[in-house]
Amino acid sequence: MTRRSAGQACEPPNNEIDGGITIPPCTTASNAFWRPAQGYDRTVNPLDDRDSLQRFVFERARVRGELVRLDASWQEVLRRHAYPPALRAALGELMAACALLAATVKLEEGALVLQVQGGGPVTLLVVECQSDLTLRAAAKWEGDLELLGSGATLRGLTAGGRCALTIDPGPGKQAYQSVVPLEGLTTADVLEHYMERSEQLETRFLLAADEHRAAGVLLQKLPGAGGRPPRAEDGDLWDRTAILLRTLTREEILGRPGADILRLLFHQEDLRVFESIAVRFACRCSRERVGGVIRMIGADEARALLTERGEISVTCEFCNETYVFDHGQTEAALRGAAAHR
Ligand SMILES: [Zn+2]
Repeated sequence: MTRRSAGQACEPPNNEIDGGITIPPCTTASNAFWRPAQGYDRTVNPLDDRDSLQRFVFERARVRGELVRLDASWQEVLRRHAYPPALRAALGELMAACALLAATVKLEEGALVLQVQGGGPVTLLVVECQSDLTLRAAAKWEGDLELLGSGATLRGLTAGGRCALTIDPGPGKQAYQSVVPLEGLTTADVLEHYMERSEQLETRFLLAADEHRAAGVLLQKLPGAGGRPPRAEDGDLWDRTAILLRTLTREEILGRPGADILRLLFHQEDLRVFESIAVRFACRCSRERVGGVIRMIGADEARALLTERGEISVTCEFCNETYVFDHGQTEAALRGAAAHR
């Protein structure tokens, strides 16, 4: 277990992606996953469950669930990067899992970041879900992944490595980060181990992704002290529902409407289903943020880059947007002025 105690220094911030996020220094907060999730006001039409999260709870046990379907939001990730087919499923599954976990955490602002650092050929998978349920994702890899085929598992893609979850509650607040070695074969296996080892929360994931959709279901057993006391405790419910979850095929989770999935799995259970809430793709990069990066590297290095290349060009690895700064724009950025195209 690598949960950090308060005040202990965290890993070096090697998880920055150009134009993307930087994880601030962290200490362990109280277990963020034990808090009740907040309510959202962005509900969606129940007949159209594309790009949505659906919360449900079991009335007779302290078990909660989330169901997610990413359609346009996932396609937007694929449209912006020509990711090799071999890593698409893992990245899509991680994006679905990130939305599921974000839905279980009280995030008034800031973001939840899931990151897999592999030993190759895939070296990094990173997915971020903001408190407003906007998502973005990126991957880095080396060499040709064609030989691995589209059915490659997370273990096959990463050759070991580690899984990090960061909750960044926003400016001025302490971030929480926990890192565990990658254990398990699939994305779901890895995250189940993560939740058990790092958060001491029994959690089950069912995740799937293809070139059209990423989807997933999360089940989580709440600790005895958390959640509502059930009316009549059903001691077998957790084991039963966790087994039921495994019966759903990849085709069913990707092809069936969310309501069908819940009916298929849990039609014999006393289930309370909440209104769906919308999720969407959005990137946080901007010219202003890139201007901030230029200020951070300093005038000497920025001017040396201008001399060498004639301009400074920065591409966001999440959304693939390129920001070009000529001499005047670089000087304006260095002065801290708003940089304009
Ligand atoms: Zn971007």
